[in-house]
Amino acid sequence: MTNAQDWHRKRSYSPEELDLAKAALADIRAGIEVQKALRRHPLPEGRGFLAKHTLVAAYRELVDTGEWSADGEVLARIRMKPVRTLSGVTTITVLTKPFPCPGECIFCPTEADMPQSYLPDEPGARRGLENEFDPYRQVSSRLKALSEVGHPTDKIELLILGGSWSAYPRDYREWFVRRCFEALNGENPADDHAAAHLSDAQQRNETGKHRCVGLTLETRPDFITRDELIFDRALGATKLQIGIQSLDDRVLALNRRGHSAAQAIEAARLIRAAGFKLVAHWMPNLLGASPESDRADFVRLWEPGSIQSDELKIYPCQLLRSAELYRYWERGEYQPYSEAELITLLADIKPDVPRYCRINRVIRDIPSPNVVEGNRNTSLRQDVALELIRRGTACVCIRCREVRRGKVEIDKLRLNDLVYHTKSTEEHFLTFDTPDDKLAGFLRLSLPRGGNLLRLADLEDAAIIREVHVYGQSIEVGADLPGAAQHAGLGSRLLVEAERITRANGFARLAVISAVGTRQYYAARGFEHGALYMVKPVVSAEA
Ligand code: SF4
Ligand SMILES: [Zn+2]
Repeated sequence: MTNAQDWHRKRSYSPEELDLAKAALADIRAGIEVQKALRRHPLPEGRGFLAKHTLVAAYRELVDTGEWSADGEVLARIRMKPVRTLSGVTTITVLTKPFPCPGECIFCPTEADMPQSYLPDEPGARRGLENEFDPYRQVSSRLKALSEVGHPTDKIELLILGGSWSAYPRDYREWFVRRCFEALNGENPADDHAAAHLSDAQQRNETGKHRCVGLTLETRPDFITRDELIFDRALGATKLQIGIQSLDDRVLALNRRGHSAAQAIEAARLIRAAGFKLVAHWMPNLLGASPESDRADFVRLWEPGSIQSDELKIYPCQLLRSAELYRYWERGEYQPYSEAELITLLADIKPDVPRYCRINRVIRDIPSPNVVEGNRNTSLRQDVALELIRRGTACVCIRCREVRRGKVEIDKLRLNDLVYHTKSTEEHFLTFDTPDDKLAGFLRLSLPRGGNLLRLADLEDAAIIREVHVYGQSIEVGADLPGAAQHAGLGSRLLVEAERITRANGFARLAVISAVGTRQYYAARGFEHGALYMVKPVVSAEA
């Protein structure tokens, strides 16, 4: 049986199963614990118990037929994998088609029929392949699968991966993003007109059922130019991921990265000046590196005027047969770190991460059979966490401090402002923290020092909000979850504080890099559409 057949078999329910599920749901709504409710309504003839996804299907039917009104608390309890949406937004990853990358990095796998650097059995990549890298099909099938297991899909962060985005022709990129938006808008799949405009699809998404609240693109530092940033912004991008890999020019050259550390630092400066959120990929264990040199390299990332990214993906170099590095290993010129060495290294460096950064990954999710030698443990993060506890140290990155399932007591939150300096900006990382130092929400405000670096009209004499993020379970429209942070107006309070700081620093305007699906949110708070950003005049106290 293929995966797809298996999926359909699992997802078609008999009337008998749905009736049992409805009875169980009534118990759950009355306060009975989910597993207990399932056991109270067993399948006949000793066939065991209902699966949780049956409850979600029955819940949908009850709400669709109007028998029940939406009940966020019940839905949260029967949802299968709540962690995926804990940050309030659901991520959908889509892959671009295979296309030659101008890079020649020796660690990068090259597989037939796959975009450069992806393996056919990596989870996200496999879905791309199954949908022949068609953007519409990738987005719509993911939306369907997510809603079938009960995830809210009203707020979507799109993550476009595959090779180097900037190397694809512009018309392909524009088409790709337009089709993603059309899928989010639920438009007819056959309606792929060459004359259709991206901006129309974006406009429809502003009020659509599945709003794009973030769009991330992935590229190389040497592609980052003013022109490229303007193009990405017009597509609706809000976050850029770039491969830094190392800040050691010797290591970069040995691995044939094709760019220098200075180019990576300049790319970070331009990305920040354009108000994007910056995600850096950093790769320990490259050819020519050692645990000692990696430790020193990691510290360099955070020096004032260096990369200072908002998020970081640590991808320890993995030895893959289809990468050129494999030949070096065969000749005895390269040796991957062992699992123990890697855990020690990661536990050494994590406490050095500044509070404004989020470490998204400490290892790439490569299925272990592909790894020739070295670490195969893809749940390294938990082992590193245990090692930190053993040492009595801690990581204070955003991910480690995010409010998770716990309820937030709004009155006890403290507003903090962490100020740090980059090459061309003064950054204010405004946070709402709980008494036990958990993070309920944050805002990134960038005050340009030295003028409008990119000469963009919207950003003239403007401070820039690069990100607003409030935690708590993502809530469906019409449902409510008591105590969840998203409903307490934390976002608005952060905006007011950002406006105050902007005014106090003598800027005339406040700009925000809004995603297409958050434009209405900002419009309701006094921001107006500029060419690429939403902008609000800020009247100074003396005026
Ligand atoms: S730039 Fe990225 S995709 Fe291209 S070869 Fe290097 S690692 Fe691979
Ligand atoms: Zn952390």
